[in-house]
Amino acid sequence: MSFENLGLAPFLLRALSEQGYENPTPIQEQAIPLALEGRDLLAGAQTGTGKTAAFGLPLLQHLGTNPQAVNGPRKPRALVLAPTRELATQVHDSLRGYSKYLRIPSACIYGGVGMGNQFDVLRRGVDLLVACPGRLIDHLERRSVDLSGIEILVLDEADRMLDMGFLPSIKKILAKLPRQNRQTLLFSATFEESIKQLALEFMRDPAQIQV
Ligand code: AMP
Repeated sequence: MSFENLGLAPFLLRALSEQGYENPTPIQEQAIPLALEGRDLLAGAQTGTGKTAAFGLPLLQHLGTNPQAVNGPRKPRALVLAPTRELATQVHDSLRGYSKYLRIPSACIYGGVGMGNQFDVLRRGVDLLVACPGRLIDHLERRSVDLSGIEILVLDEADRMLDMGFLPSIKKILAKLPRQNRQTLLFSATFEESIKQLALEFMRDPAQIQV
């Protein structure tokens, strides 16, 4: 199986081959075609399996091939929620790399740093937002971010986010997203009851995959 066979666009294939990615990993093989079809996904995968590209490549392909008619200020179209600053930064860096042949304005939003730069970059407008739940709530409360245009939501390491007590924040964030025409990709190493409950409540007939 090659990346070409998974249905990825040339602008992504080129970036992947430059990064030395030759073949998709098992999670990528399973997740990418389903995500490109627009399905919701409930994916069981640990760190190190290539899960970032498994959700990142379909997300970037969606943004890159469905340009948005910008009327008024640009609103984020894709949101990736991650438990920690380290993971959010890693995911953001990986997505920047995969999208080097696309022009996708993006931001990485986490706590423990001043809000000033984050206000500036959000005001200028981004298509892609990678964020930790707590700081994203701060921005929602200050109305410095508008999530009403989100087309794709990724919950990365969902089990860790719940372990860290982010369930109430995640629910608040979910309540701000459009329900119609939204694709949701949930990645988790484990599937305890609370994750299944979240999936039932907020996802639409998710395909389940496991590596
Ligand atoms: P992740 O599980 O997303 O954190 O990825 C783990 C590591 O594998 C990262 O360093 C990726 O750059 C790398 N990686 C992901 N997919 C591939 C692939 N198909 N071929 C080679 N390296 C990959």
